[in-house]
Amino acid sequence: MKKLVFCLLISAVFQTISAQTANSFYTDIVSKTSEATILNHLTTFENFGVKTVGSKALTNAENWITDYYKSLDYTDIELQAFTYRKGTSNNIIVTKKGTKYPDTYIIIDAHYDTINGPGTNDNGTGTVLIMEMARLLKDIDTEYSIKFIHFSGEEDGLLGSKYYVKNTVIPQDLDIKLVFNIDEVGGVNGLTNDTIVCERDLGKPKSNNEASNAVTIQLASYMELYSNLKTEIANAYASDYMPFEDQGFTITGLFEKHESPVNHTAKDDLTHMDVTYVYEVTKGAIGAALEFAVASE
Ligand SMILES: [Zn+2]
Repeated sequence: MKKLVFCLLISAVFQTISAQTANSFYTDIVSKTSEATILNHLTTFENFGVKTVGSKALTNAENWITDYYKSLDYTDIELQAFTYRKGTSNNIIVTKKGTKYPDTYIIIDAHYDTINGPGTNDNGTGTVLIMEMARLLKDIDTEYSIKFIHFSGEEDGLLGSKYYVKNTVIPQDLDIKLVFNIDEVGGVNGLTNDTIVCERDLGKPKSNNEASNAVTIQLASYMELYSNLKTEIANAYASDYMPFEDQGFTITGLFEKHESPVNHTAKDDLTHMDVTYVYEVTKGAIGAALEFAVASE
């Protein structure tokens, strides 16, 4: 999504950021992030082609993502099917159990469907970021449970995340600490991509806005601690955190500072983005995930 919608950017410099220090155990994990692996995964994602719902390309991507989690020895992998006019596809939901609060979840999500093109930036970047995060967190204890969710149907109106909220979150009364959405973090080739936008909820209901603001300020500080990126805060809109936000959950998210001029076209490929930027965003996001889920040695 994320096209044509006005994005209110509020440039922000946080005095509190410099006061925080990176956790050395987390820094060690973050340092294992591999730019080569990210490039390799983005190339694979791109080569599947246009991943619209109902296409063979989307099924191929789904199988690739699912097989990847299996290869990492994740065991709680759920495919949640849903159907609309274009066809049937699956949300991929991978759960990592927390040690102290196994029934409280950090949801880290990105959509893997694309529209009109291979979607290497929108949203191969979020897809691959979460895959790399899941690799590095696999054998790390976290106090909170984490759900890595790859949503489908996003480009047709957030349909996968809406389905998940309606059919899993609400009926199971899931205890969600926060939703961390990653959508389009590839930047623009040829520009200086040195800033990541951290997104907070300013919309209705208002009851969850304060918590979202607090978590987003935390996210910005973690991004600066664990990557070489600068941060800005902006409002959340038009991505898979919105169905959660509508139900009052605490949300935050990441989005590129320089917005791709080619998203939702055939040109959304590796040549139009900046893989090193994805690598930096991934490092920051992994640091943030370790902090939010309270990882320990
Ligand atoms: Zn997207």
